[in-house]
Amino acid sequence: MAKDYYEILGVAKDASQDEIKKAFRKKAHQFHPDKSTGDEVKFKEANEAYQVLSNEQKRKQYDQFGSTADQQGGFSAEGGPASGWGGRNDVNFDFGDLGDIFGDFFGGSRGRASARQQKGMDVETEMQITFEEAAFGAEKTVELYKTVSCDQCSGSGAKKGSAIEDCSMCRGSGQVDQVQRTILGQIRTRAVCPECQGEGKTIKEKCPTCRGTGVDRANKRIKIKIPAGINNGQSIRLSGEGEAGQRGSIAGDLYVSVRVKPHSEFQRDGDNVFSVSEISFSQAALGDKIKVNTLDGEGQLKIPSGTQSGKVFKIKDKGVPHLNARGRGDQLVEVIVKTPDKLTRKQKELFEKLTGSE
Ligand SMILES: [Zn+2]
Ligand SMILES: [Zn+2]
Repeated sequence: MAKDYYEILGVAKDASQDEIKKAFRKKAHQFHPDKSTGDEVKFKEANEAYQVLSNEQKRKQYDQFGSTADQQGGFSAEGGPASGWGGRNDVNFDFGDLGDIFGDFFGGSRGRASARQQKGMDVETEMQITFEEAAFGAEKTVELYKTVSCDQCSGSGAKKGSAIEDCSMCRGSGQVDQVQRTILGQIRTRAVCPECQGEGKTIKEKCPTCRGTGVDRANKRIKIKIPAGINNGQSIRLSGEGEAGQRGSIAGDLYVSVRVKPHSEFQRDGDNVFSVSEISFSQAALGDKIKVNTLDGEGQLKIPSGTQSGKVFKIKDKGVPHLNARGRGDQLVEVIVKTPDKLTRKQKELFEKLTGSE
């Protein structure tokens, strides 16, 4: 009777792929030969079970016949050369997202070869905007000197009319197979093709402008939409507006950090706007309606009679619009009662009368 793979991984017969993967991860960590709980035999067993159960086709076969066709001859990957390296100890891993388990196990070598890794660099820049632009949003332009796709060859790196051929070393796949000897027997891994750096292509004649890199340096103007409600120090990410990648690979991102210029009248506290208004003695004593500057222009504020200096009034919804949300903050107006430093004879008489009546 063949081994019970479900029992080895400790999952039910109808376990989902997710459960199987989770169970395998747990076992692999537990039995990893580098750990104190390590057990090489169990580690191999768990791997064998996972190789079958994680593959729907093999799993079906196993469920039906209690074994899989290739259990006798070692596993071979679809598309890989099955002959030549068959045998009991050959295991073909699909490392995929199990890199964290196997990464350190095989000396940090990465299982999955990834092609086209020359992604362009991210670029950071700073931009000054006004208080109002931060509050209500704006369209701005930045000019950057950066790596751009080469105009001459449209980023391909090949001279015009020159052929781009499949790499002879990897036959266009961008990957080469490597065989490693480990405690699990021979492990076949894929690596980035050293000849073409994983691109799978070789250029017959290089573009003279970019010398085959597909990129060039140039000034570029980039439009930036500043969202309403952005605050000092926050940044905007523009996907793909960073440095161009070599030979048509993905460009980096652009990060624009926003510096908001101080305002002569307003101060910002979150989405609230703070301002100060001066009123006279009589306005404070008798009450009045005063004009107040707001982000939306001139507004009115009612001062009740008997207002003390330093009192803060709220004007609702005259603050900064919330970033990426409905609504706005408020405006907070601090009222300062101004004591006159010079009095006319008439005013003096009136104040003296007031003092007498108290
Ligand atoms: Zn190659
Ligand atoms: Zn070029």
